[in-house]
Amino acid sequence: MTYDPQPQASHYVNGAYLEDDTGTPIPVIYSANGAEIARLHSATDAVIEAAITSAQAAQKDWAALSGRERGRILTDAARIMRERNHALSVLETYDTGKPLQETLVADATSAADALEYFGGMAGTLTGEHIQLGEDWVYTVREPLGICLGIGAWNYPTQIAAWKGAPALACGNAMIFKPSETTPLCALKLAEILTEAGAPAGIYNVVQGLGDVGAKLVTDPRIAKVSLTGSVPTGRRVYAAAADQMKHVTMELGGKSPLMIFDDADLNNAVGGAINANFYSSGQICSNGTRVFVQKGIKEAFLARLAERVASAKIGDPMDESVNFGPMVSENQMKIVQGFIAKGIEEGARLVAGGEQVDRDGFYLEPTIFADVTDDMTIARDEIFGPVLSVLDFDTEEEVIARANDTIFGLSAGVYTSDITRAHRVIGAVEAGACFINSYNDAPVEAPFGGHKMSGVGRENSRQAIEHYSQLKSVYVRMGDTEAPF
Ligand code: NDP
Repeated sequence: MTYDPQPQASHYVNGAYLEDDTGTPIPVIYSANGAEIARLHSATDAVIEAAITSAQAAQKDWAALSGRERGRILTDAARIMRERNHALSVLETYDTGKPLQETLVADATSAADALEYFGGMAGTLTGEHIQLGEDWVYTVREPLGICLGIGAWNYPTQIAAWKGAPALACGNAMIFKPSETTPLCALKLAEILTEAGAPAGIYNVVQGLGDVGAKLVTDPRIAKVSLTGSVPTGRRVYAAAADQMKHVTMELGGKSPLMIFDDADLNNAVGGAINANFYSSGQICSNGTRVFVQKGIKEAFLARLAERVASAKIGDPMDESVNFGPMVSENQMKIVQGFIAKGIEEGARLVAGGEQVDRDGFYLEPTIFADVTDDMTIARDEIFGPVLSVLDFDTEEEVIARANDTIFGLSAGVYTSDITRAHRVIGAVEAGACFINSYNDAPVEAPFGGHKMSGVGRENSRQAIEHYSQLKSVYVRMGDTEAPF
């Protein structure tokens, strides 16, 4: 079979590409030059209905397979993704603008990790036996039914797989709605799952704006909603899902603290701050955008950081030596420019960057602010762009209190050579995904998700199984049934 790197139509339903060009057009813009590279269509009611009915028709038989049989299909899909990593990475770069240097190692590979991990786990999913004298209870882990995945635009392949792999491993069907900004990559995952042997209808992709997501969320045939997106969208989707008591996973935004103590290895701390702010042009939910630096090393830290950031290679994301690409869209670039202007207006010191790069496409320079205070807009709101804010601090107690003074709780990091302090600080922060002398690692084996307004539920690891299955418990009486009358 020859492999076509481009998706063939807007949607993927019932095991095949599907087009309905009466839907609202969705232009796909390559953010490195502003060119329209594809034109898809938002799902019409007919497409949504076809996705739901095909998922419904397929799910029961899929759930009736053994876990090992389902798992084999997922691990086959993982193998195909790895074989096609280069083409899938190029597509991810077209979809998002992220440099190929990143997408080659962080997107299809991460999706393959999830397919492999949950594929391996599928055959191990069991209930338990609870002995109660001569009676006993057994539990059965059952799928939920049809799960809806709704994606953000920063990691379209990864998000589609982080939701799809555990859902399918548990015996569910999935309907995935990508962000309209990055609609291409999830289609390839659907195609590869079919090629690996997934029955038609088990993994459908429908395109659309928020209204398509909203229709799916409120359909009574959908049992669960897993959203990756912003807090305001999360609030709306969670409320709509609650109306029908649906299960939810909410992976939302953050404003995470990275705390750097005087005794930290300076180069590692600077490297951590770069990974926490500039990978994917800063468009990562777990980014450590509030960089608290202890006063003793502040100027040395800033000098080293500015020096290393100046060596970033900004350019054509398809050039593998480029390590800093454009923002995902003109709209996102303008939002981030608004935050940069606000930072300057509110008195933060601009140490580096701040400007749009003088070339086609939606490029913003990696930007560093110093002397940022807790009340400034850039220290409070999620920016979702390449803007690093340095705040200084004196004591451990002070930095913990300030780190926690936010509605968000997705991530936190600490750099220190004092091992007891590292654990003490991480023990005290209100955040779900934390790092000691590192930042932004997200292996599939580790639970990922937020505290506070950053979310509900966990993706990845064995924990994800809890969020894509439900338990049935069965009491078995071995003797006579006693009744009061
Ligand atoms: P949005 O919240 O704007 O959108 C997320 C998804 O929800 C999109 O597919 C969107 O569709 C859809 N949507 C919007 N409104 C509704 C609705 N009423 N009902 C159902 N679906 C709806 O987020 P962005 O795409 O702008 O992504 C950036 C955000 O995602 C940031 O806040 C970031 O922190 C967060 N994020 C969180 C991650 C995590 O794991 N915690 C990881 C990555 C990002 P459309 O875009 O087509 O309108």
